[in-house]
This record gives sequence, structure tokens and C-alpha cells, in this order.
Amino acid sequence: MSISDWVRPGIRAMAGYQPGEQPAPGQRVIKLNTNENPYPAPAVVLDALREAAAGEALRRYPVPDARPVREAAARAYGLDPDQVVVGNGSDDLLTMLLRTFVGPGENVVAPAPTYSLYETLTNIQGGAYREVPWGVGGSLLVRAIADADPALVFITRPNAPFGFACGLEQVAALCRAVDAPVVLDEAYADFASDNGLALLAEHPNLIVTRSFSKGFSLAGLRLGLGFAHPEVAAELHKVRDSYNVDALAQAGAAAALDNLDAYRPNLDAVVAERARMTQALRERGFRVAESQANFLFARVPHGDARPWYEALKERGILIRYFPDEELADGLRISIGTPEENEALLGVLDGISGG
Ligand SMILES: *Cc1c(COP(=O)(O)O)cnc(C)c1O
Repeated sequence: MSISDWVRPGIRAMAGYQPGEQPAPGQRVIKLNTNENPYPAPAVVLDALREAAAGEALRRYPVPDARPVREAAARAYGLDPDQVVVGNGSDDLLTMLLRTFVGPGENVVAPAPTYSLYETLTNIQGGAYREVPWGVGGSLLVRAIADADPALVFITRPNAPFGFACGLEQVAALCRAVDAPVVLDEAYADFASDNGLALLAEHPNLIVTRSFSKGFSLAGLRLGLGFAHPEVAAELHKVRDSYNVDALAQAGAAAALDNLDAYRPNLDAVVAERARMTQALRERGFRVAESQANFLFARVPHGDARPWYEALKERGILIRYFPDEELADGLRISIGTPEENEALLGVLDGISGG
């Protein structure tokens, strides 16, 4: 008997998604490694969660299709509720997209480097993951993507791990060039100067996904939104787990969407610190790309970034290091509070000085 013989070959062969490390409960670290928002959600959102927990909501099943959240999202973003699907995190929407559009052996295409979960989900689904490079200056190689014969395309905008945003006119051109759905993963759009929502009206193959984990300070609640043509949304609803968004999450989501203005000070503070940290890191000899997200990718002055990552970790600061060849000279640093960012700069000065 061998357990591994029972496992589908594609699952046996895969490594599984590697999330950024999470400190043990109570462990004191400055956590700048998984792009969470450094500020708590507004009081109106936290109050709505407390109220939901205290009432009847947890005894009963949640609304299966999260209709009230979809209505709140439609109001907030000027769409129709039939264009909205709610996920248990935006990762859940990515899973639904794979289930809906990708059959065994079909191609999932993405400009890379990008969010590594796309490849994991493609492997689970039995699809073939094909990476295409980013073009010069973070542009989309529309022809190369179309030539890779996609069943599904993922574009991260703003991109991870660099933070740049490709041109929206290129996203539109890609939608016209491929006979397949194009997913615009806008997990970081709340920090960006523009987004692709207006493209939905003209491109029935465009699907925009959003996360509540970064902009909305609710990574622990697990919420995401998908915006799509109503026919696409209807197909996605078929493959959802039956009660995929729990009652607390639905209460929190509706409160957040009804109070987007309450997030403005938090988002503005992160964007202001992003500009300050870009400058401060450049002054210290790091090469830092302009970012539209809540993190920076900073290439170290010389050599591999691993010793910097390790030295920071030793001093209680977690950032993300990727060993991949193309990324190994960089540190991906989430934007924290001004105090956290100062602490990071202080430690970097200590490392380079010593
Ligand atoms: C964080 C992230 C997600 C996942 O967000 P959740 O809502 O927490 O599941 C999706 N895509 C990208 C590019 C991300 O960085």
C-alpha cells in the first residue's frame, strides 16, 4: 500500500502554495511581509461585525449568494448586482475562475513574475500554466499572450511583486486580441491612481477581482469581489462552494462597502508613506521601482538580498524575499505605519553601516 499512489499525479507533483510567514500568536514582530494594511478597519466596520456576532447571524446559514453584499458592491462601484460575485477572499474567486474556464491540459497564461497562486490553482485544476514575460516598462506583450492559446489569462494590476500598473489601453487591447476570459486581478487597486472597472462595459470577456485584505484591512475575514458580465457571473455562481461567504464576512463586507469614505484617511496615509519610503530607500542606494500598490520592491545595493532579509528577521522585522533568480536581489517591503517604516530604515542603516 502506498498513499502516494492514490493521489492524482498532478497533485503529487506539486509543492503547494507557499504563503508569507505568519508570526506565532503573541510574537512581537514588525510585519511587512504580506501586504496587510497597517491600520485597523474603520470603527463602523468593526461595530457591524460585533453586532452580527452578537445577534442571530451565526446560528443560521448565511445568504448563499451574498445578495446584500452584491447590492452594496453594485451601489459602491456603479454596477449591477448581477455583475458581482463574492468570494471567501479574492483567492476563492480565482479558484472559481479556474473551475469555470480551465479544462484538463488547457492553458492558463500570465505575464510573470506575478502572484504565484495562479500556478498552484492551475496545477490543482489540471491545466497547463504558461508564463509570458512583462514587456519593456511593465507593458503587456499582447501578441505573445494571444499566441500562447489561453483558456484563461491573469493580469495583476498593480502587479506583484513590483507594484507597477500596465496601461489600461493595453488591457483593452488584450481583451480584444484573445478569444478567452481575461482576469484583471486588482487586489491592490485601492492604492492605485486608476482601475479597470470602466472597461467592463465594453469587454464581456473581462473579469475584475478585488480583495478586502489589503485596502480594506480585513485580511483575517476573507473577502473578495469579482465583477464580470452577468452571463459570466452566473456561471461563476454555479461553481461556488454553496455557502462560500460566512455571515460575519457578509456583515463586514456590506459595512465596508457602504462606508468607503471612512477608509480614505488610511489609504491616503499608506500612499503618502509609499512615496516617502521610495525616496528614503533610493537615498540609501536601493533601486526601487515606482509602485501603485502598498508595497515596494527594493533591489539591494550589491548582490543577493537574502542576507538583508535574514538580518532584518533577526532584528524582528519580517519582509518578503523570493529566491527566484529574477527576484533574488530584491526585498518586497509592505508599507507600514510611519513608526514601522522608520524602524525598518533604522535597521537597514545598521546593516549597511556595520
Ligand atoms: C493578496 C492577493 C490576493 C488574495 O487576496 P485575498 O482576498 O486575501 O484572497 C490576490 N491576488 C493578489 C495579486 C494578491 O496580492
